[in-house]
Amino acid sequence: MKDITEIIKTTLKNLEKNNILPTPINFEKEFSFILKQTDLILEEYVEFDYIIESLSTEEKNSLNKNEISTFKDLSNLLNNRIKESQIKHFLKDFSYFMSPSINNDIKTEINKLCSDIATKPNHLINNETIRSLRKLTERRIKSDKSVFNEKTTDVKKLILFLGDHFKKTLKQNNITVSEIIDIKNDIKNLDLSASSKNDLNDLENKLMSVMDRFEKSMESTREGIISRQTQNDYLYEQIEELQCSLNKAEEEKSIDYLTGVLTRRAYDIELKRVEEHFEIFDSNYAIIFYDLDHFKKINDTYGHDCGDSILSTFASILNKLTRTEDIISRYGGEEFISIVHYSNKLEIESYLRRVKNIITNNRFIYGDVKINVEFCAGVAFRENYNSYSEAVKTADSLLYKAKKEGRNKIVLDSKIEF
Ligand code: GH3
Ligand code: MG
Ligand code: MG
Repeated sequence: MKDITEIIKTTLKNLEKNNILPTPINFEKEFSFILKQTDLILEEYVEFDYIIESLSTEEKNSLNKNEISTFKDLSNLLNNRIKESQIKHFLKDFSYFMSPSINNDIKTEINKLCSDIATKPNHLINNETIRSLRKLTERRIKSDKSVFNEKTTDVKKLILFLGDHFKKTLKQNNITVSEIIDIKNDIKNLDLSASSKNDLNDLENKLMSVMDRFEKSMESTREGIISRQTQNDYLYEQIEELQCSLNKAEEEKSIDYLTGVLTRRAYDIELKRVEEHFEIFDSNYAIIFYDLDHFKKINDTYGHDCGDSILSTFASILNKLTRTEDIISRYGGEEFISIVHYSNKLEIESYLRRVKNIITNNRFIYGDVKINVEFCAGVAFRENYNSYSEAVKTADSLLYKAKKEGRNKIVLDSKIEF
């Protein structure tokens, strides 16, 4: 049995014999090689073996091919591991990639899975996690497909109905055989996209057969006929109008008619998503309450329409200065609220300075008049509070403080004011 001094001596001797410089790494390699041939137990090497033992199966496999004898080799291997923070960062977008494009019914489950992985990143490659991911992906694809099928079935129903109507209208009106042939050619040249062909080909064929039957019946009577505006056109117009009003109604629910920013109702919905991301991924954000100063006076001096125009310009300036992932909403009257994400609080400060400079260094133009507009803002950083409601309450009271202290002021919960 050798003692450690003897091992050191032998190590140095071997290195010299093999003409190898005794650098720390060369020394360590040779030392561990000789140590292994003895029954001496050194604490560092027990720890070393313990780390090797706790490596994952993949890491152990790579280790067999590539023997590890020094702490440097071990640290190279461990450096290849993906960091937990990188996994968390990836998961942020991952839940978005996984979400169904139309139907969102599995969103909660996706978020839960991502949140489970975020808390235990090493579970990412568990068989169970992979199985759950696979199942959710299958459900996502199924859900997208079923919504798509429903929609194409509806389109089919609508067009079949139109086809019937078309046939009746053609019979009632004067139309020549050559015009029927033109219509058939138009149907042939519809140029459906490859993805729609499977579902809509069937429909195209049905329309074609309607036209074929009609052509035959026309040929038997050989009546020359002239076309006029069909009831079909009228029906199409009605459907288009209906679609427009539906779209408009849907937009009106979420977009404020005067300022073009989100309504408070839409803000509440967006906020849920923002809070979810804050809880799971620590996506920090600031809540900013804006209120225009002496707005009543502007209305009284220049009229309500001028007030409307100022509100709309103010909102569009906020919109232009804010990134798409952030939120601006009209909270009520001449009050707006923003949610702005950040990685460093200084970003929020310089964002607010930019907003203030643009609003106060320019004059709003309404007809012939140029008007100075000022505002106050109260700002709370969500991470400083236990809940959103505490944070928003603080932003509101800081806005009140800014008003009380003379207006044209922004007050942050970090005690900064400007
Ligand atoms: P302060 O500096 O304290 O905020 O004073 P202020 O006059 O801005 O606030 P106050 O709450 O007394 O008045 C808000 C005014 O905003 C009163 C209201 O008529 C006006 N207002 C609210 N909504 C609209 C709108 O859609 N268009 C116009 N033109 N005015 C509006
Ligand atoms: Mg107000
Ligand atoms: Mg005001």
